[in-house]
Amino acid sequence: MAYKLDFKAPYYNIINNELSPTTETCHGVNPSTEEALPPVPSSAQADVDRAVEAAKAAFPAWRALSWDERGAHLLRLADAIEANHDEFRHLDVAECGKAFQTAGVELSMSLDHLRVTATLRIADETVEDTPERSAVVRYRPLGVGAAIVPWNWPMLLGVGKLGPAVMAGNTVIIKPSPYAPYVLLRLGELAAKIFPPGVVQVLSGDESLGPRLTEHPGIAKVSFTGSIATGRKVGEVCGRTLKRMTLELGGNDAAVVCDDADLAKVVPAIAFLAFVSSGQICMNVKRIYVHDKIYDAFLKAIVAFVRQHMPHGPAADATTAIGPVQNKVQYEKVKEFFQEAEAKKFSIALGGPSEVSLDKKGFFLPPTLVDNPSDEARIVGEEPFGPILPVLRWTDKDEVIRRVNAFETGLGASVWSQDTAKATEIANELEAGSVWVNSHFTVAPNMPFGGHKSSGIGMDWGVVGLKGWCNPQAFWTIKG
Ligand code: NAD
Repeated sequence: MAYKLDFKAPYYNIINNELSPTTETCHGVNPSTEEALPPVPSSAQADVDRAVEAAKAAFPAWRALSWDERGAHLLRLADAIEANHDEFRHLDVAECGKAFQTAGVELSMSLDHLRVTATLRIADETVEDTPERSAVVRYRPLGVGAAIVPWNWPMLLGVGKLGPAVMAGNTVIIKPSPYAPYVLLRLGELAAKIFPPGVVQVLSGDESLGPRLTEHPGIAKVSFTGSIATGRKVGEVCGRTLKRMTLELGGNDAAVVCDDADLAKVVPAIAFLAFVSSGQICMNVKRIYVHDKIYDAFLKAIVAFVRQHMPHGPAADATTAIGPVQNKVQYEKVKEFFQEAEAKKFSIALGGPSEVSLDKKGFFLPPTLVDNPSDEARIVGEEPFGPILPVLRWTDKDEVIRRVNAFETGLGASVWSQDTAKATEIANELEAGSVWVNSHFTVAPNMPFGGHKSSGIGMDWGVVGLKGWCNPQAFWTIKG
C-alpha cells in the first residue's frame, strides 16, 4: 500500500517571523518517481541580509531570557511538530525518498532531541573563590548562527542545530539543502508562531546560498553538516572571516565482528545499520570486517536476512525498508561503485551491477554486498553514501585495527562480540568520534556527536555541543 504524499504549498522563507516569498524559485524532486515537487524560495543576497539583520536585532533580548524560558520555547516547538506529525512524515518520504518507517524514526528522534535539549544547562565553573577574589569560567552565546543542513536527514539534523543554538542563547538561520527543503521550511512556519521574531529563521535557495551565509560578516558561527569536500570550503571561509564553526562531515564507519559474535543477534543489527536509509546516513555501517572463522556463516546469514526482511522499492510503499537514492547527482556517484565492482570483477554476495535497472523512473539501486574486495578498492576506502558496502575478512587483532584506522575518516566505529572486555580492547584503539561495543549509530541528544580526523571539527549535541554555541569567558571579581 502506498501512502498519499501531501504538500501544503506554497512554501516561504521565514524572515523575522514573516512568510517571505522570493522572486526566483527552485524545487525538489521526488526520488521515487522523479516528479518535480512544489516550488520553494530561492534566496538572494537581500534575503540573507534581511534575515541576518533580524537575527542580530533579536539576539540581545533572546540571550537575556533564562534557560527555563528558552527551553519552554523548544518544548512548544516539539509539541507543534508532533501535532503535525503526519504531514512531516509525508514530506520526509516525498522529498528524501526515505522509507515510511524510517521517516517515522527520524521524526520521533527529532521530537526527543528538542525535548531533551530543553533540559540541558551549562553550569558556570568556579575555579577560585576566596575572600579576596573569584574566578569563574562562564559560557556566553555567540550571536547569529548559520545552520547548514544536508539532504539526508533534514529534520533531525535541522533541529539538532536549532535546539542547541537557541538553547544556548543564540539566534539561528537554518539553510536546508536545495535537494530537501520542504520539512525545514514547514518547521520554520511553526517556529514563527512560537519564537520572537528573528530568533529562528529558515532560508532556502540554490548552491549560492551556503557561501552567502558563510561569508556574511553578521554571522558569528557556522554549524555545517555535509560532505568532507564542502566542509573544507566552509572551513576556509570561516578561517578567513574568523567565524566559529562546527563541521560534521562524511564518514566511512567500520563494524568489526569478532569470532565469538552471536550471529542471530549481530546479523540483523548490522544488516539494518548498513542499509537503513539506503546507506545515506553519515553513521551507517559502511565496511563490515568479519573474523575469518565466522566469515562464511556471517555472509550467508546477512544475505538471507536482507533478502527476506529488507525489501527495496518506492519510499511511500509501506513495505519498503530500503528506498531510492535521494537525488540524481548522488545516484550517479553511487553507480560508480557498482561500475567499479563490475570492472574489477568483484565477487558479489547480494545485489550488484547485474541487478541495476536503468529503465524505470526513480533513483533505485539494489542493496549490495561486495564479498571481500581488496583494501585498495574504492568501495573500501571511500564513502559511497548509498546501498552498497564491502564485507571483509580479518584474522589478527592488530591487523584489523590498522585496517579500520587506515583512512582519513573517523566518524564512528563499532566492535561486536559476546566478550565485552575483548571487544573493548579493540574499541579502545579505534580512531572515531563515536565508538560502540555491540551497537552502532546509537546517539542521544545529551551525548556529544561528531567526527575525528577529516570527519569533522567540534561536536554537536549534549553539553559539549551546547558549549560549541558559546564563547568561554574568564570572569574575574576582585572583592572590594
Ligand atoms: P554537501 O556537502 O553537498 O551539502 C551540505 C549542505 O551544504 C547543503 O545544504 C548544501 O547546499 C550546502 N553547501 C554546498 N556548498 C556550500 C558551500 N560552498 N558553502 C556552504 N554551504 C554549502 O553534502 P550532502 O550531499 O548534502 O550530504 C551528504 C554528505 O553529508 C555525506 O558525506 C554525509 O556523510 C555527510 N553527512 C554528515 C553527517 C555528520 O553528522 N557527520 C550527517 C549527515 C550527512
